[in-house]
Amino acid sequence: MTKRIGVLALQGAFREHMISVEALGATTVAVRLPEQLEGLDGLIIPGGESTAIGKLMTTYRFYEPIIHRHAVGMAVWGTCAGAILIAREIADCLVDQRSLELMDINVRRNAYGRQAASFEADLDVAHIAGGDFRGVFIRAPWIESVGEGVEVLARHGGHIAAARQGRLMATTFHPELTGDPRIHRLFLEEIVGE
Ligand code: GLN
Repeated sequence: MTKRIGVLALQGAFREHMISVEALGATTVAVRLPEQLEGLDGLIIPGGESTAIGKLMTTYRFYEPIIHRHAVGMAVWGTCAGAILIAREIADCLVDQRSLELMDINVRRNAYGRQAASFEADLDVAHIAGGDFRGVFIRAPWIESVGEGVEVLARHGGHIAAARQGRLMATTFHPELTGDPRIHRLFLEEIVGE
């Protein structure tokens, strides 16, 4: 059956994710209200600004519905700001910043610092054939530590750049900006599943 993938469309790079997912034959929904989570097989929380997305998630009351839909089977993938928003813990968390606390990872915002705030790097990503994946890092966080049930999928410079835990995936870079479908395919085939 055709998979139905929502992309949280409050702020950030959601259109590019929709294009990438549609190119692989799945149906997409630009999710702007919690009711639209109903019936989704997976949800992508895009990159952008985690504080801005988080505030809009509070305004539109997204936190509990996403947590609930995930508990009943919806896969969730967070890229960059989205990785921050699904983390159990945000290192040096701003006082009013709230995450969904879904995935057992600790994420540090803007971890690569100002000078190196944006860069590209080749990544060796687990479960992906065909050579390195070009990672686009934009004021990226890194995953500082992971809990026991979390599989590390990729590292850059010793820091974790991608990880997976059951029906959850986090990438600190932007696969939707490269035109390389392999990480979207990994999400659809292995994280969302059949
Ligand atoms: N630095 C941003 C944040 O803290 C994330 C950047 C991105 O998503 N490209 O939300």
